[in-house]
Amino acid sequence: MEKDYKTIDKIVSLCKRRGFVFQSSEIYGGFSAVYDYGPYGIELKKNLSEAWWKSMVQKRMDVVGLDSGIFMHPKTWEASGHVGGFDDPQVDCRDCKNRMRVDHMLEEHGIEADKMKAEEINRAIEDLKKKGIELKCTNCGSKNLTPAKNFSLMVKSNLGSPTDELSEDNVVYLRPETCGGIYLNYKNILDSARVKIPFGIAQVGKAFRNEIIARQFIFRTREFEQMEMQYFVHPTQMQEKYDEWKKIRWNWYLGYGIKEENIQWHKHTKLAHYAAEAYDIEYNFTIFGGFKELEGIHQRGAWDLSQHSKFSGVELDYLDPKTNERYVPNILETSVGLNRMFLAFMNEAYTEEEVDGEMRVVLKFDRRIAPVKIAILPLLKNREELVVKAQDIYSELSEYYMCEFDESGTIGKRYRRQDEIGTPFCVTIDFDTIEKDNTVTVRDRDTMEQERIRVEDLKKYFAEKFNI
Ligand code: ATP
Repeated sequence: MEKDYKTIDKIVSLCKRRGFVFQSSEIYGGFSAVYDYGPYGIELKKNLSEAWWKSMVQKRMDVVGLDSGIFMHPKTWEASGHVGGFDDPQVDCRDCKNRMRVDHMLEEHGIEADKMKAEEINRAIEDLKKKGIELKCTNCGSKNLTPAKNFSLMVKSNLGSPTDELSEDNVVYLRPETCGGIYLNYKNILDSARVKIPFGIAQVGKAFRNEIIARQFIFRTREFEQMEMQYFVHPTQMQEKYDEWKKIRWNWYLGYGIKEENIQWHKHTKLAHYAAEAYDIEYNFTIFGGFKELEGIHQRGAWDLSQHSKFSGVELDYLDPKTNERYVPNILETSVGLNRMFLAFMNEAYTEEEVDGEMRVVLKFDRRIAPVKIAILPLLKNREELVVKAQDIYSELSEYYMCEFDESGTIGKRYRRQDEIGTPFCVTIDFDTIEKDNTVTVRDRDTMEQERIRVEDLKKYFAEKFNI
């Protein structure tokens, strides 16, 4: 297999070594399923989220943005069915105490179980047994497993008045997805933003889930960021708009450098009762051995607005100004985890190449999402004239691009470091710059070709390279 060399261990180690991602609370021994993003991680995450926002909001006349609170009225989650209904089925190994998502184990036998309740799952396990198939612990291989039980993913907080008795009726949750805030603001936006159906509301923000198992680095974490867009349509427009959004989201990945053979559609066969169609875009996470969900593109019908209308007593319908028709809009959503997207782009970009008998590790990010765009490197750090000139160039270019100034180590080592964080261009300031012709060397990350560019032309040169 061509891409065997991409392993999760290498990605985790690069992320730590080069300051992309750190385990949370490491000095206290770590805090499971939460990760912190270092200097390059935050840049990559920001660039991905801005690229998404640009295509989903900035370039669209029919989508507006929102930033709603993480805490919401407790009724929100009753209305949406999350309280008492948002759970994953787990089994434990009686021998080694390993805890597992049993729906994932059933998937391996071709059974789509993520919408099943524990009783249904236990029946499916019995049926498999009759066929001579028994589930085994993913850790020790034992067949001594507990029956499946449901485990709520909702994260409770103790927010509220200190005198309030916390009961199931008033418990405040941390949101498990960002779209709740969109539904609750549907009417505000309709009344204030001059939007007309069909239109969408997009949001990027944190979400929290008490995931049973979260051992796949930043693929599945208990605190994560979602980028969601809810699109409101007349029921008769649903299929047309749904097909349109599926194409838009598919092409977005291709536009940012994901190879077409690395994404595929997964059609849900077991749907929530309100949904007519649901597809996921799966990415070929070779670091985990294959395709896994990256983004969901789902039809949600009139369910969300109808439920919130019922529970709040507020009408959440739409009056068509042209036809005078009154109806509850149907919704389609696109929903992707920013952190999971980060990992997909890492998986895609990670490249090992042999150059002059040595191995070069390079992150071949699309230039627009690379954490650092240009590295500015004075050839020697103890020659003031070189350093000062490089600082001037840094000041000028950093007005427009995320730049990094690096003066330590040999130039070869500095190039290698920039390759490993995916910097598209390095600018080296040497004695010719000062003494001869005011030119610098610009090195291209992918071709490793170098060319001499006049300092006064750098701004124009990079504007062309970055297409701005
Ligand atoms: P899964 O089946 O993997 O648990 P899901 O189907 O519950 O995920 P959705 O509720 O549809 O996921 O969430 C939409 C998107 O949010 C997912 O496609 C994924 O990219 C992201 N996401 C969901 N849960 C997590 C998590 N715990 N950590 C990181 N990203 C997540």
